[in-house]
Amino acid sequence: MIVFKNAEDLNQWCKTKKSMGFSVGFVPTMGALHNGHASLIDIARANHDYVVCSIFVNPTQFNEASDFEKYPISIEADKSILHQHDCDVVFIPDVQTVYPNGKEYKLDIELGEIAEVLEGAHRPGHFDGVIQVVKRLLEIVEPNLLYLGLKDYQQYLIIKKMVAHYQMPLEVVGCPIVREADGLAMSSRNRRLTEEERKTALNLSATLHAIENEKETHSPKAYAEIATEKLNAHPLVDVEYFSIVDAENLQEIDAWKEAKTARACVAAWVGKIRLIDNVSI
Ligand code: AMP
Repeated sequence: MIVFKNAEDLNQWCKTKKSMGFSVGFVPTMGALHNGHASLIDIARANHDYVVCSIFVNPTQFNEASDFEKYPISIEADKSILHQHDCDVVFIPDVQTVYPNGKEYKLDIELGEIAEVLEGAHRPGHFDGVIQVVKRLLEIVEPNLLYLGLKDYQQYLIIKKMVAHYQMPLEVVGCPIVREADGLAMSSRNRRLTEEERKTALNLSATLHAIENEKETHSPKAYAEIATEKLNAHPLVDVEYFSIVDAENLQEIDAWKEAKTARACVAAWVGKIRLIDNVSI
């Protein structure tokens, strides 16, 4: 596996491979890799001649300095996971390499309603930072396909919109959420949970998965209210939102039949860790 730290070198490498007719699949991450990330590498591996992964904890998408400072870092373990999954290239840039002209950024794209709800409503500036870094990484790698996890469903929709807006010549693929055996969505943040918090966190996915059996008896809004109340009854849990939305525009629905596909999304603090999860209904 080749390790690049320099943007120009990686750009040249990718350009050369593409000019020879090879395809490049790209998986951007913030490291602290787990099987969720590995599944994206595996999907890219099955579809491309070359797979590029990036590891960069992007400071501009954290709206809380302490969350950024405490973000887990495990580069050597990450490299070993990537190697095991047959990744060809890992890009590990520093902040200066990603932002040679400084981190200031003015969004010149109108994201509209999909960015104003859920994470957008609770993490001011988060998606500006996400767009800034993904746009820059895509300009460096210039992949044929970009692989994203549906764990960050809203991020997936927003990046798709950004790629269309800038008419970037690539496709965006959303990959299924990988869960622990007991249902907890895999996340780099899980490793910061205590044993008790880890057990409690399980209620998030359980509440999402219970929806299918409750559709006959509860409207989306009624279920969301009950679920919020149930989750908040655990002393370690503080729900930021539990919303059942139309999967296309992320607006809350009043009746199940209002949306072709609905998505139930939750964000909650479990102790000092903020977790998100979602399911398709
Ligand atoms: P992150 O390192 O958290 O920025 O995530 C990098 C990519 O991995 C994003 O596209 C995430 O949506 C995806 N990802 C993270 N966790 C999971 C998971 N449990 N299942 C599938 N994809 C995931």
